Amino acid sequence: MASAPSSDDMFDQFLSQRGHEVEVAEWEESYNKKQCPDCGGLHETAATECSVCGWTPVN
Ligand SMILES: [Zn+2]
Repeated sequence: MASAPSSDDMFDQFLSQRGHEVEVAEWEESYNKKQCPDCGGLHETAATECSVCGWTPVN
C-alpha cells in the first residue's frame, strides 16, 4: 500500500518550489488598458510604471 506516491506529496513539493514567488511581475490587462496588479490602477498601454503607487514590472 505504500508503493504509490501520493498526489499530496507532489503538490507539497510544487508549493515548496513556488512558495517564495509571490511578487507579480507583469501588468494585468483590463479593457485594453494596463492594470497595476498592486493597486489596481488603470493606465494607457504605453505606461511603464504605475503613476498611482509607483509599481513597475519586474524583468
Ligand atoms: Zn499601482
